Amino acid sequence: MFLNVLYGVYVVVFICSTSGEPLRFKDGKFKIAQFTDLHYGEDEFTPWGPIQDKNSNHVMHSVLTAEKPDFVLFTGDTLTGNNIGSNATEYWKYVLSPCLQHDTPWAHVFGNHDDLSAEHGDRDTLMKYDQTFNLSHSVRGPRDLFGVSNYFLPIYGEGSDRVEAVIYMLDSGGGQIEEQVTPDQITWLYHTYHVNMQEYGPVPSILTFHIPPPEFEDLFNTGQCTGYLNNTVLPLPSEGLYKTILSLPNLHLVTTGHYHENDYCCSTENKLLCQGRHSGYGGYSDIARGSRIIQLEKDKLQTWIRMENRNIVDHIILKYHNFAIQES
Ligand SMILES: [Zn+2]
Repeated sequence: MFLNVLYGVYVVVFICSTSGEPLRFKDGKFKIAQFTDLHYGEDEFTPWGPIQDKNSNHVMHSVLTAEKPDFVLFTGDTLTGNNIGSNATEYWKYVLSPCLQHDTPWAHVFGNHDDLSAEHGDRDTLMKYDQTFNLSHSVRGPRDLFGVSNYFLPIYGEGSDRVEAVIYMLDSGGGQIEEQVTPDQITWLYHTYHVNMQEYGPVPSILTFHIPPPEFEDLFNTGQCTGYLNNTVLPLPSEGLYKTILSLPNLHLVTTGHYHENDYCCSTENKLLCQGRHSGYGGYSDIARGSRIIQLEKDKLQTWIRMENRNIVDHIILKYHNFAIQES
């Protein structure tokens, strides 16, 4: 009972603390572009580094022009922050510039490279800076939880005050803090999800965090999947996370980042567990860059990869209620 009351308070606080216009469905759809592992500022003192950042900006412009998404989800390792100094917020602004130019709102979860170096700040510094932009929907999560980017965003119906979908974020740590998802975070997710379901009804939901747990690789080896998995998914302290994900009936898609040479999307029951496409030219991998697109609709969701060259690959349709997956 205490927990329900407590997490009910979070519901109110979080809705009030998002900035800018509320996120809304448009023409029955809400389209998200996921940019992951951009790694801006990597090798900033070599000629190579700034060229990669410019190339990453091109990826984002290309995707935003082709898809015109309603929202951008940055899913971590936006910076190679541990390699850069006091100018981290300048890089952050550079990362955001395509969204600003396309007038597209965004939100962030942090990855293991986003922390500034210890002498110049931490995740909170980046969060506070991000929130100075009107288009930012990033939220500083509860102070008693591990990490900073633990929160949710309601998506409203077109021209209504009804919430028709929810995006959940978890901070999987790294950098100046451990790489993990703690039991408290998992409890928070569980309770917040159920409080929201009581409040909003059984609306479709998605979840994102940077580092996937190894169960995602197990599913790739046994499940129905698109894409590829070239990097081994390493152990991550996150006991109970996978089980909790499977237990939330209207959580229909989870997407992560971190492994630059993985690009899978696997189905289990009425869910898709996915990895975003490496979007940035910073960081390892020689694969062509792109963005996972996630389109929420009333009775289904669709996801596909939009490549930098504007081709589309790995298009999947998940119907919420009959668990069927179609590819087109
Ligand atoms: Zn990472």
